[in-house]
Amino acid sequence: MFWLRNRILNILCLAAFISLFYSFSKLFFNKQLNYIDELELITGEASKLPATWVGTKDVNKDIPILILAGHADSQGLAGSGTPGEAVDKFGFEPMDPDISDELFWNLKLQESIVRIGKMKGLNIRSYVPGNRNIDDANDPRTNWSVGKNFAKTGGYVIEIHFDSYGHYGVGSGLIPPFFEVPNKIDESIAEKFGRFPVLFRGGLGAPRRQIRILEIGKLEGSLEKNLRNSKTRQRTIKFLSNEIVKAFLNGIYRRNVI
Ligand SMILES: [Zn+2]
Repeated sequence: MFWLRNRILNILCLAAFISLFYSFSKLFFNKQLNYIDELELITGEASKLPATWVGTKDVNKDIPILILAGHADSQGLAGSGTPGEAVDKFGFEPMDPDISDELFWNLKLQESIVRIGKMKGLNIRSYVPGNRNIDDANDPRTNWSVGKNFAKTGGYVIEIHFDSYGHYGVGSGLIPPFFEVPNKIDESIAEKFGRFPVLFRGGLGAPRRQIRILEIGKLEGSLEKNLRNSKTRQRTIKFLSNEIVKAFLNGIYRRNVI
């Protein structure tokens, strides 16, 4: 009898343990999943700078789109991009010792946005300068020179960035072009990521060449952790790229792509 009671007790304990473990793991995974499905949670705060522009201009559905990776031609100079919170504040190793962590992620996002965009039928491509360190911004091989020419012929050019961490950065958002009326793609991206004023920092080099800048978010906190963690990296890159491609489609077709 004693033996049987002990055995039943053991089974009950095991059952209780398993069900507790199950509910905890479910809670944990659900939390992780929700976490990554909420754009605002993953990208952090959006720009709170006063911006009154609204993108109203219609765009052609075949509009050629060019995706640039911010700082791809300016490594080694002052404008090499943010090292990110992990490296700069907490002393982690850079993702690649030859380039800033911001460029590392800009390149990953660029590649993923173009791949997903093509699958969804966008007329989309990328440009990567072969030389990582071009001193003259007006050199024909720079992001800005190639982007400027692309925009001149009616294309939509956007340069991907991650903002600096903490009080060094502003947050996520779109900086619209300087000399052009913002269009419905701009509006759609700004609705998702937030908006910067047209005259941000006196009108930066890229917007002055009709190149949009998208700050995806500050390279810090959960965004950076989800990118650095090899278990969540691909999912995070894919999620962010998908959100950007959806914004393009919404802007072009003015409908909600869920
Ligand atoms: Zn940047």
